[in-house]
Amino acid sequence: MSHCQWSFNPRSLLLGAIAGFAALIVMLLPSVQAQVPPRPASPTTIDQALSKLSPPRVHPLPPTLAQQPLNSAGDYFDQVQTPIVGALIWSQFPVTVYIQPETAEEQGKPFLQRRSQLWIKAIQQAVQEWQTYLPLQLVDQPAEADITIWRNTPPLQLKPASEEAGDRRLPIPRARSAETRYELYAQPTTSGNPSRLAHRMTIHIRPDQAATYLEAAARHELGHAIGIWGHSPQPTDALYFSQVRNPAPISRRDINTLKRIYAQPTRIGWELRSP
Ligand SMILES: [Zn+2]
Repeated sequence: MSHCQWSFNPRSLLLGAIAGFAALIVMLLPSVQAQVPPRPASPTTIDQALSKLSPPRVHPLPPTLAQQPLNSAGDYFDQVQTPIVGALIWSQFPVTVYIQPETAEEQGKPFLQRRSQLWIKAIQQAVQEWQTYLPLQLVDQPAEADITIWRNTPPLQLKPASEEAGDRRLPIPRARSAETRYELYAQPTTSGNPSRLAHRMTIHIRPDQAATYLEAAARHELGHAIGIWGHSPQPTDALYFSQVRNPAPISRRDINTLKRIYAQPTRIGWELRSP
């Protein structure tokens, strides 16, 4: 899939089974996070890791989505990628969201402070827009959050050289304005039950953009974070693959797509098998 100027890159999976009590069971990382392209996980390793997970199952549709009628606007569900663990959907609500507050450094400099305030306002606006379709709740501590949103430049993406046959050049960094990535972990449950497979999302959005673009970037990345792991081919959708002059609001097609994603089976949110 072609890259998006402002988005994620789930191109490859790095899976590792990690032993130990309450340890991470599976970790998926975009290959581009590493300075050097990692070796692809061997099928055996993936099979071993997956054998610790329950088979994919469907969660009940959240009421906020259930009450959205599927309409004739269509969707772009066929563009959505399904990771090996299944749909990247939430099953415990509200989904908690942490927005990075002003830092001490920003508070000391009027320009930076104003910029961070605009950024925060734009992100809050985007959270409110998605709120209609999925219960989201702002929290003060990043450790408590399912989704964390940070005010900085996304880490540089290095294109693995192996991607293009015969290309021996050094990878070329791509500067981008926003990015969402996910990781999986084993979430302890109460009452001695096995842990659940859970995920968390991390969003980076650069602050040095006009308010309209900040809001559009936040709307777009939050769309990824709540489950739309793919891009729309139409510029009238919030999840269009590229930034445009007049960013679209959340469209019926975005919602139709989201609703179909939440009806998909997944291993996320279900208990891990006992060893
Ligand atoms: Zn994107």
